[in-house]
Amino acid sequence: MAKVSINLATGSIQKEEIIVGIDLGTTNSLVAFINPDKNAQVINDTGKGVLVPSIVHFGPAGDVTVGNEAKEFLITDPYNTIFSVKRLLGRSYKDIENYKDFFSYKVIDDDSESLVKINVGDKFYTPIELSGLILKELKARAEHALKTPVNRAVITVPAYFNDSQRQATRDAGKLAGLDVLRIVNEPTAASLAYGIGLNPEETKTIAVYDLGGGTFDVSILQIQSGIFEVLSTNGDTFLGGDDFDRAIVDYWIEKNQLNKAELVANHELAQELRLKAEEAKKAFSHQSLFNEKVGDIWCTLDRDTFEQLILPKVQQTITACENALRDAKLSIEQIDEVVMVGGSTRTGLVKKMVGDFFKRPVHDEVNPDEVVALGAAIQADILAGNRKDILLLDVTPLSLGIETMGGLMDVIIPRNSKVPTKAGRQYTTSKDGQVNMKIAVYQGERDLIKENRKLAEFELKGIPAMPAGFPKVDINFLLNADGILKIQAIELRSGVKQEVEVKPTYGITDDQVEQMLMDSITHAKEDVSQRMLIEARTEGEQMVYTVEGFIKKHGAYLSANEITATEKYIADLKSILATGEKDAILKQIDAVNEFTRPFAERLMDQAINTAMKGKSIE
Ligand code: ADP
Ligand code: MG
Repeated sequence: MAKVSINLATGSIQKEEIIVGIDLGTTNSLVAFINPDKNAQVINDTGKGVLVPSIVHFGPAGDVTVGNEAKEFLITDPYNTIFSVKRLLGRSYKDIENYKDFFSYKVIDDDSESLVKINVGDKFYTPIELSGLILKELKARAEHALKTPVNRAVITVPAYFNDSQRQATRDAGKLAGLDVLRIVNEPTAASLAYGIGLNPEETKTIAVYDLGGGTFDVSILQIQSGIFEVLSTNGDTFLGGDDFDRAIVDYWIEKNQLNKAELVANHELAQELRLKAEEAKKAFSHQSLFNEKVGDIWCTLDRDTFEQLILPKVQQTITACENALRDAKLSIEQIDEVVMVGGSTRTGLVKKMVGDFFKRPVHDEVNPDEVVALGAAIQADILAGNRKDILLLDVTPLSLGIETMGGLMDVIIPRNSKVPTKAGRQYTTSKDGQVNMKIAVYQGERDLIKENRKLAEFELKGIPAMPAGFPKVDINFLLNADGILKIQAIELRSGVKQEVEVKPTYGITDDQVEQMLMDSITHAKEDVSQRMLIEARTEGEQMVYTVEGFIKKHGAYLSANEITATEKYIADLKSILATGEKDAILKQIDAVNEFTRPFAERLMDQAINTAMKGKSIE
């Protein structure tokens, strides 16, 4: 293998190899790179276009298509066509239960805190795997267009993404065979594409307004000495260009006096009208009248009417801008620049209303659906050390994290994070009455702690006995500028607390760091697969524990037959757990859930009945 060197300042590998920037969008994804002229450029794989619709289709023979081809199956094969998977990344079912009807495919409802899965045929996919497929397609397109292997990337995420969503994005990258050098906020990338923040001397406050296909967000960023800080974000994850299309279709339905219910039932026609509406909307970027037909339906619309139709939606985004400013405790006058992002900001009314609100011309010179990917490519170039003019801050070369169930590494401070830095996460117990919690701290990039380097281990003692899942243990990592890592664990309900300090760089050579990074790249894919298996297994074991506990405690509410059947389900789950096949485990977990859910409901009813009886309502 070719010897590579690692820049210890950036934790990145120095080799003349391209690092791409990827915008993994809800509606569209794309990839960009820095061309030999040192300019950021989007990749257009011959004839396929720049934008890759973020859609995955699973064919009957197990064939997978991604992008435009997959989009065609949205109407003809909705159950096997997965769109908007970004909305599910790193989310649990609890997070999404309020909008589950939005998805035409099957999102597994196991009514729990664990991450959602998607059921296609007899297979289960995690949003990470599905996003991985989109990234794989982008990687392939980049390799095809650039005629060189592409193994490293910077991927963008919305500023409001939490830790778990960011980790999921990293994992998706790993599954696609990409070494994800950094996860960057979309508004930060957009600013970079405009050259804002590249000069370390400048201090600026900017607003980034991003209106995409189905989501809207606005972020207020403070840029100082090359550091981007998100002061506030606001928005609506169900507001975007799709709403404009819908408003147009509704207008045509009314004008042509069509029966809406009938039309909705006719999927093909509904879809055709929707596409026509999108065409009309886009046409208004350069013409003021649209006049076409779909079958014998007149699709006529002028720009003024269009603007009236979408005005309430655009007004909603302006309210969000007001809220973002309020949260950042800033006035409109304190905003130095406004950057427009997302395909829907091409709409004239949007530009005008945002400009009027901020009382200044908005930045729209860069193509709004490419701007994030272009900025990601610039960030990649900075990480590669190709921009000597840019101040690079001290970063931590290896990730720092703790051991979680099944011997997995849970990263708290990802590698390449600027120091000083602070990060934390909340954990809980897995057993009823658990009073101690072991906290083992590791350094490294592998998914299994046994492959990483152990830095410290301590025990948080004196957690009051509570049912599993009740204690709230905050674990905080503070890495100061001298490279000292302070780890603090605190149980929030009782206040019990424990703290240790270590120096992660102590006793490790540059060569060893390099080796650890190389190993993580070589083993990335198998690591993620293994991690997913362990996660499924942990979920399964937790289920055995819960159901067995339930039978012991509430067996009286079940019939003998129900108990026997449940025991059979659990025995099957145990034997599948022993064989260790991820899909089979997830399938059985789903089956156990389906079977036992009514019991829990019945128990609840019984409890209410008993309570009523005790009260004697006469
Ligand atoms: P996301 O970031 O959610 O993946 P994009 O930034 O790619 O989304 O935006 C997609 C949206 O932009 C779609 O609703 C599309 O119809 C809209 N769009 C693209 N071009 C135009 C245009 N010229 N005028 C208005 N809307 C447009
Ligand atoms: Mg976007």
